[in-house]
Amino acid sequence: MNREIRRPHMITRTPEVRQAPLWQRQQAAAITDPAQLIERLGLDRALLAAACRAAEPFRLRVPEPYVSRMRPGDPDDPLLRQVLPLDVECDDVAGFVDDPVADGEAMRAPGLLHKYPGRVLLVTTGACAVHCRYCFRRHFPYADANPARDAWDAALAYISERPDISEVILSGGDPLSLSDGRLAALAGALGEIPHLKRLRVHSRTPVVLPERITDALLEWLRPGRFETILVIHANHAREVDDALRQGMDRLRAAGVTLLNQSVLLRGVNDRVEDLKALSETLFQAGVLPYYLHQLDPVRGAAHFLVPDTRALALHRQLAASLPGYLVPRLVRELPGRESKTPLTESIPECRKT
Ligand SMILES: *Cc1c(COP(=O)(O)O)cnc(C)c1O
Ligand code: SF4
Repeated sequence: MNREIRRPHMITRTPEVRQAPLWQRQQAAAITDPAQLIERLGLDRALLAAACRAAEPFRLRVPEPYVSRMRPGDPDDPLLRQVLPLDVECDDVAGFVDDPVADGEAMRAPGLLHKYPGRVLLVTTGACAVHCRYCFRRHFPYADANPARDAWDAALAYISERPDISEVILSGGDPLSLSDGRLAALAGALGEIPHLKRLRVHSRTPVVLPERITDALLEWLRPGRFETILVIHANHAREVDDALRQGMDRLRAAGVTLLNQSVLLRGVNDRVEDLKALSETLFQAGVLPYYLHQLDPVRGAAHFLVPDTRALALHRQLAASLPGYLVPRLVRELPGRESKTPLTESIPECRKT
């Protein structure tokens, strides 16, 4: 007691030490009220009623560091479009269903999807730092799939028993919405499985919350026991800001391989200039484009669809204007396949040969 009085700086410092990391506070403070987002960006209040209706089945969620990259007053801003609930989401469109990629059928243990040879995908959490309106998991039954702390045991046992599995993909939801303590524990447990060679993390959090790249993250993600890969998810060049570049620099310096996956989205990135700028901006940030996903037909996302013929034309134009390593593979996920399917294959006239 007396000592604290003599050294007052100790007293003021203690609460800071106990405080959650900045990214967790930013994540907790994310905007979830459509009225607040509309006000923050100075948008037309007429958008509000629809936003509230569409946010009912799948809530609005967007953290401030991402909002700060949006253009105020522009309802068509490509970043805003990815997060603002719209009335059209409530329309039922034929072919747009709850589980378009048949995840339910591939679940081998709680949260463990084994669809493709050699690699498994672990749904570590249902939570995400941002809610993307086009998300194919927007109706995913996370309550069943989201293993509690010790329920990872069943997934770990499944992987241990199968020496042909060489890579584990942490996915979600968004694995980086979990604390580094939990992730380090999981990475440690995976590290004890001798046949695993690679640990991959699929996350959009670094894009919307660049502060997520912390020392504690680097601690468990830097290559050591595994080669490690971080696949971020950016859809538009304007999502890449200085804070994200700095985070990517740190990961790259630590030896983590950096890739990006995007979704082709009408009104967001469906012009060849958008896609070209995205690839070039990512490369400047040390990130290689990996996949450009054709939209999964999930209920509520039909307004984002770019028809296949147009998607293929865009991809051809992109290939004609960039070096090959900056052209992401245009793919879709079809139930029952052993890998993602290049889009060309699913076009009837290409199947003939
Ligand atoms: C996309 C996906 C993967 C990873 O596929 P890669 O082609 O290796 O990137 C693995 N498992 C599931 C279930 C997937 O959906
Ligand atoms: S971050 Fe990924 S999993 Fe989460 S809502 Fe967006 S697309 Fe879906």
